[in-house]
Amino acid sequence: MLQKAFSIPPLPGTRNFPALRKTEVQKVQVNLGRLCNQACRHCHVDASPTRTGRHQNASKALSEQILTWLQRESGLQVLDLTGGAPEMNPNFRPLVAGARGLGRHLMVRHNLTVQFEPDQDDLPRFFAEHGVEVISSLPCYQEENVDQQRGQGVFEKSLEALRRLNAEGYGMENSNLILNLVFNPGGAKLPPPQAALEADYRQQLFQEHGIHFHRLLTLTNQPIHRFREDLERRDQLVEYMDLLEANFNEATLDHLMCRNAVSVRWDGRLFDCDFNLVLDLPMLGPDGRPLELQDLLAQPSESSLFPGMNIAVDRHCFACSAGCGSSCGGALVGDAES
Ligand code: SF4
Ligand code: SF4
Repeated sequence: MLQKAFSIPPLPGTRNFPALRKTEVQKVQVNLGRLCNQACRHCHVDASPTRTGRHQNASKALSEQILTWLQRESGLQVLDLTGGAPEMNPNFRPLVAGARGLGRHLMVRHNLTVQFEPDQDDLPRFFAEHGVEVISSLPCYQEENVDQQRGQGVFEKSLEALRRLNAEGYGMENSNLILNLVFNPGGAKLPPPQAALEADYRQQLFQEHGIHFHRLLTLTNQPIHRFREDLERRDQLVEYMDLLEANFNEATLDHLMCRNAVSVRWDGRLFDCDFNLVLDLPMLGPDGRPLELQDLLAQPSESSLFPGMNIAVDRHCFACSAGCGSSCGGALVGDAES
């Protein structure tokens, strides 16, 4: 079931998140569904191997609508595929090939271990052939911490998957096959400075395991779904919200990913970001109804709908604006601006 509202009552003296409006949308993120070979402790999508139903995974019809949309809208330059494990959706490969054929830049949120699922061992080659940018979560360079967050044995499998990507040229110096890693904190704290942590990762992963990557992206945990449940179990939710709000950084607002991106859910509904998507906080059309991709496609042109549109903000947005900021692309501003 989708989490309908973000219902942490503001504490006395706390503020609302400032109003935001969209700029020109250049990136489409598509969440292909909740099916995943893992069930990580901090998953904001609540994904798992049991999420097999058609109502929570994108159909062939939706993937065709996405391609139609890209064909019509030359401004939509980037297609970012996420899930769950998007590769487990049977429409994933045709969608990648179709978008590549339209000349779009492709990004895939790849959890690494999916390479060990049936018929997925050729993923590194498939990614390389289609010039896909790969973004993979590895919340630590130490086995114990990764396995604690993402499941027993995930660290070792992730290293093997990274070696396979390196063998295709991913993450290597001067290679245009981009491999970025993602860090998120193990508990109720903000990520450390991205550049320093990246240097640690680079040294540890190369020295200990011979692994190369391009950039490390730091993400702040969103207080929603499994991470929120974890906070509630530990009685840390209010404390965590205080931390996020106390570290609010206005300099991040112009760079938030919701400003120039739109997220499409597996059922075709449009959202400002993947977090609003799982909270069921949809983008609203001029008639006040949730925007659906099929409705946009029934109109002659749709991109003009987005600039200036209100973004659906709520208190979870403080996770994106705390400290150096957080987005699918990592920190939003440098240390000096935080
Ligand atoms: S790999 Fe990603 S999508 Fe899958 S359960 Fe973990 S965090 Fe969620
Ligand atoms: S959660 Fe982050 S990306 Fe999403 S609407 Fe709020 S500020 Fe924007």
